[in-house]
Amino acid sequence: MSTRLSKSRFQKGLQCPRALWLSVHEPTAAALVTESKQWIFDQGTEVGRLAQQLFGGGTEVAEDYRHQREALETTKRLLEGGASILYEPAFYFDDVLVRVDVLVKVGDAWDLYEVKSTSKVKPEHVTDVAVQTYVVEGCGLTVRRSCIVHLDTSYVYEGGEYDLSALFAVEDVTAQARAFMPAVPGLLESFRTMLDGPEPDVRVGAQCTTPYECDFSARCHAFMPAEHPITNLPRLSEGALHALLDLGITSIRDIPDDFSGLTPTQAETVAAVKKGEPLVQRDGLAEALSALEWPVYHLDFETINPALPLWPGTRPYQVIPFQYSIHVQQEDGTYEHREYLHTGGTDPRRLLTERMLADLAETGSVTHYTSFERQRLERLATAFPDLAKRINAVIGRLFDLEPVIKQFTTHPDACGRTSIKYVLPAWCPDMSYAGLEIGDGQTASVRYTMAVRGMLSAEEIEKLYADLLIYCGQDTFAMVRLLERLREECG
Ligand code: SF4
Repeated sequence: MSTRLSKSRFQKGLQCPRALWLSVHEPTAAALVTESKQWIFDQGTEVGRLAQQLFGGGTEVAEDYRHQREALETTKRLLEGGASILYEPAFYFDDVLVRVDVLVKVGDAWDLYEVKSTSKVKPEHVTDVAVQTYVVEGCGLTVRRSCIVHLDTSYVYEGGEYDLSALFAVEDVTAQARAFMPAVPGLLESFRTMLDGPEPDVRVGAQCTTPYECDFSARCHAFMPAEHPITNLPRLSEGALHALLDLGITSIRDIPDDFSGLTPTQAETVAAVKKGEPLVQRDGLAEALSALEWPVYHLDFETINPALPLWPGTRPYQVIPFQYSIHVQQEDGTYEHREYLHTGGTDPRRLLTERMLADLAETGSVTHYTSFERQRLERLATAFPDLAKRINAVIGRLFDLEPVIKQFTTHPDACGRTSIKYVLPAWCPDMSYAGLEIGDGQTASVRYTMAVRGMLSAEEIEKLYADLLIYCGQDTFAMVRLLERLREECG
């Protein structure tokens, strides 16, 4: 079924105040609804606490976001009492309340530090700091420098206490923040207009997902058809999206053949959806698959990338494999399963690598999906020079299924997206990740990190390990099934 809407709904072209707000402010705890999001938030809080220690001897304004009035009173009292280093002080000006991560007095002025658990400064961090500086100065303080503190991914953890001066990088963004500050009053006015007025009627667009996924996305996109909405087209530009909406088109099926705003990949997707069946370049696909050497080893890693390194020799946000699944498929379609899940909380890499090398044997193609597995193997080869020759031999056997899918097939139900989460149910509709306790890589990563950090009970860890084995095994079994389907297509 397709949907057509009148043009008027989309012609206003108002800029979305919610999106403006998201561009200067990260989501708060109140918006966190999943365990993964909560974990990322908690990890950020932990990084913030550590960063405070860079500026030792300060006083914390301990009242949380539910007690902002008390936080303002405590801040005022501390400032009047001559405090020179404050953690989480609260300021209110021009209808805006901010909590500054760290404020340090230097002479008669102050240095403002905003801590981000990222590996670099992002544009929205600067606007965030600009709003904070605007509010703090509005309260009568002079801000000398506005800085962002973030994690330095070149830091290698040596065990024991973190070396905070190496773990964190401090970037002075005063000039950029001050350049943005003249726009802040107008920005705040647009927020007030939004809050005081009727619900804004705005166009959906790039702002719905960048820099953060908007919490109202489902609501604002409710006018799109459930099946084949135009927003499913891969990497659809905002210009093309709005051009289609101007034509009253919300379904891929309704896109005219002569619509010129699509890339070749998007146009192929439209053709497949309209035809209602996959488009397959059979000769090219058969030739690509003929490069496979049997038996085929389907390989998949699960990984963690903690902000704060867990084991000596690792860096902030380093991606560390803790589990793999391998399905060994013979040319006649039969297969067997091999797997490894590291337990016990120690650095998984060495044991995992040795087991993997044994399980992958010496010959046969090693399929994977996306370049992720190749990158992990390359890092393992660097980490363990004595195993590098054998790991590089495995790298030489790699065969990435994703570019094959991308180059030679277009499935209407995958809508041009090549992630295994879309491709698998499209090509093998009897297979899905729905119903699994762990159904995505981020959840697997978060739960495993929590186990290593001692945040789960013994029973929870036992269940987690069982769920992880099912999930990772599903990923490589998906590749078995996918390869079967692709070979069927070749005839
Ligand atoms: S989903 Fe709605 S509220 Fe959110 S950014 Fe998009 S248009 Fe604005």
